[in-house]
Amino acid sequence: MTAPPLTLHPDRLFPADPAARELARALYATVAALPILSPHGHTDPQWYADNAPFPDASALFITPDHYVFRMLYSQGIALEDLGIPRRDGAPVERDARKIWRTFAAHYHLFRGTPTRLWLDHAFATVFGCTERLTAESADRNFDRINACLARPEFRPRALFERFNIEVIATTESPLDALDHHRRLRASGWNGRVITAYRPDPVVDPEFEGFRDHVLQLGALTREDTATWQGYLAAHRDRRAYFKAMGATSTDHGHPTARTCDLAETACQRLLDRALAGTASPDEAEQFRGQMLTEMARMSLADGLVMQIHPGSLRSHNPRVWRDFGRDQGADMPTPTDYVRALKPLLDRYGNERDLTVILFTLDETSYARELAPLAGHYPILKLGPPWWFHDSPEGMLRFREQVTETAGFYNTVGFNDDTRAFMSIPARHDVARRVDCRFLATLVSEHRIGEDEAFALAPELAYGLAKRAYKL
Ligand SMILES: [Zn+2]
Repeated sequence: MTAPPLTLHPDRLFPADPAARELARALYATVAALPILSPHGHTDPQWYADNAPFPDASALFITPDHYVFRMLYSQGIALEDLGIPRRDGAPVERDARKIWRTFAAHYHLFRGTPTRLWLDHAFATVFGCTERLTAESADRNFDRINACLARPEFRPRALFERFNIEVIATTESPLDALDHHRRLRASGWNGRVITAYRPDPVVDPEFEGFRDHVLQLGALTREDTATWQGYLAAHRDRRAYFKAMGATSTDHGHPTARTCDLAETACQRLLDRALAGTASPDEAEQFRGQMLTEMARMSLADGLVMQIHPGSLRSHNPRVWRDFGRDQGADMPTPTDYVRALKPLLDRYGNERDLTVILFTLDETSYARELAPLAGHYPILKLGPPWWFHDSPEGMLRFREQVTETAGFYNTVGFNDDTRAFMSIPARHDVARRVDCRFLATLVSEHRIGEDEAFALAPELAYGLAKRAYKL
């Protein structure tokens, strides 16, 4: 018995209309082989530093990827059965083959999702799998992937080169010593892996362990982080270190896009209350909002590009949080205001020419109403690509359809894969390139731009815009 063949149609995601499809193909042919720029993501720098083999197919594709296991969880499969470690150390499934079989038996759940596109792309192009994953083909695919992983050409650095990654950014907390990055730089390998400054653990009073983190930040930088000026100086110090280790950007994952511009005495009072653990939810929000404005000020001085990722209500499911902790697929999007929320920051820095703030959203209703008008006016603002739940062919089309009218193409910044799933990186960039070519082909077929302009835009969307916006 065999499973159905695993096929990647060469015209996948292109328009169904023959003339537009023909042009999309021609456009795609010019960008398909461009190097990958991955300026925002969450791969583990230790992979590249150690260059150890990935352990097995389940540890590679299932256990670390909440895009995958949240879907299985939604259909009643216990996270324990997928090998997700529990906080209390209680036993979970350890047998990688068994975990893989559970996944394979439920692979149909991913029909129509981008996760399915990414996984099939990786199975076929990276591992040479020829059968679609089903309960019946589970073992053969598992064995094939594991046999590959044991070979030197499937180690992280070899795959990095094979994937044609020009540069990849990881994200680290200011408290991270960046040892893996340091080892990487000393190793003589010429793959470019850079860090990004992600200060959420020390700027969010509601982050578990905030007080300890701020004290640690003080110890690391020999600043008195209980004073507002010392706290800011500590950030400047760590940012300089991150920049020396290759960082070109910062990233801020906040519940909202709120910014504040408060007097120093008010800032000190907020810091006092945050450290004492007595800040109200609104004061915590003001603290985070003030820190966005402070980070913009620091970016103006040190040149790091600032990214704001608002609108995710983290750990929505208290039981999953209790048993498994953060980042377990239980984060949910919320409506997000930008026009009012960003005003304090924009009033102060919106007209600068040497500052770039890249905005992301999980609230697609803000594209045409708020984000495109903001980015289509303020010199500091650019729009990040569709993110997380919207990193899908439909999400990419909705983005282009709703922001291009007001922000154009040049206030956008190309594609980010934003992933911890290393194997999905080529697939994600391929999907973005195909969908952008499809969008451009449609504009040409409606006689809204010339063919020559579409050919000029395609490499910009795949490569040039990201290279310039992120200073790569
Ligand atoms: Zn991210």
